[in-house]
Amino acid sequence: MNSWASVAIPPIDAKFDFPPLSLWDTARSGSFPLPEKSLYRLYVCGITPYDATHLGHAATYLTFDLANRYLRARGAEVRFVQNITDIDDPLLERAARDNVDWKELAQSQIDLFRGDMVNLHVIPPDHYVGVVEAMDLVTQSISVLDERGTTYQVDDDVYFSVRSDEKFGSRSHYPLQKMMEIFAERGGDPQRVGKRDPLDPLLWLSHRDGEPAWSSSHGEGRPGWHIECCAIALHYLEPDKNSETSIDIQGGGSDLIFPHHEMSAAQGQILQGRPFASHYVHAGMIGLDGVKMSKSLGNLVFVSKLVASGVDPMAIRWALMESHYSTDRSWSNDLLDASIEWIIRLRRALSMMEVAPTAPVIEKIISAQGSNLDTPSSLASLKEWVVLSENGSHGGQAGELSRAIDALLGLAL
Ligand code: ZN
Repeated sequence: MNSWASVAIPPIDAKFDFPPLSLWDTARSGSFPLPEKSLYRLYVCGITPYDATHLGHAATYLTFDLANRYLRARGAEVRFVQNITDIDDPLLERAARDNVDWKELAQSQIDLFRGDMVNLHVIPPDHYVGVVEAMDLVTQSISVLDERGTTYQVDDDVYFSVRSDEKFGSRSHYPLQKMMEIFAERGGDPQRVGKRDPLDPLLWLSHRDGEPAWSSSHGEGRPGWHIECCAIALHYLEPDKNSETSIDIQGGGSDLIFPHHEMSAAQGQILQGRPFASHYVHAGMIGLDGVKMSKSLGNLVFVSKLVASGVDPMAIRWALMESHYSTDRSWSNDLLDASIEWIIRLRRALSMMEVAPTAPVIEKIISAQGSNLDTPSSLASLKEWVVLSENGSHGGQAGELSRAIDALLGLAL
């Protein structure tokens, strides 16, 4: 699958010192620096292409873009892979409801998503991989799980035994009752008779009438959700055999903590015999005017509609950075209006002949971003600099600040 257009990242002056990037790891319930490396492996779960790209999506991809940018600004290489869940229950259900071909629906939404990512200045993945095109990888991974004795069948469907991973549950830390509830809400089938553990996830769903199917050693069918990301990540990120974990960052929205990331990590542990990721990082959910934004409530705000109405994508980026990525946040017109105003003032300040000193604000932004992507502090420093510049402070170089906020915050002004 084609990714989207690459993004130029300006250099930051070598005089600035970059501490290691600390990120909140859900598995360890704390903020920890990533180990020093010259190459990081970043996997971010992609969209199911039927409602792209609402602000919840945008906030998630922006979060990992900020991590990507910081690591690159430190001089490291980042190998970045993202999937598209282009075969899944919600996609098939939406296509059936709207009486459209599921492939056409997926393609139109993927095109929309790519355009939104370009507008939001998100660095594209090195590999943007649809599940449909990765079917061989998925079925090969299931075969390895078979060989390790971690799978079983119920009728013609194949399940992964979560108890085969002794660390099962250790990335999400949810009590059993909560796991059972969430599993049922997010595609799981805890009530199915014949399963060894109610939480065992599907690896392969045998062919159902009217559904697309692919061949595998378990017969015709389609894969379960979690094995897809696991197989794509472990192939395209080319894990280093000498590393303690297969990849560095497993990223996504907080609604993926369980079951999706727990299950992917459990399967990854069995496939490679070591922890799947060093950091499991999750972005909070976005609400609208204090109410959770969701498909069922019909209150999704879409990036493409905002941009089509004339909103500067950089103002959307700014608005999403006004609060911390890890928190559940609220979107509102007031927030957007204030962000539009700050972008105008920042752009104006950067074009002035004399500006307030810039090295101190760049240092503050580096420090904030390195400390678990603290964008509220970064934006506060920028606002302070704008006000100082407007009030006649001088001695700075607008060009170096402009390059730094483009490289670190993705604000291309
Ligand atoms: Zn995923």
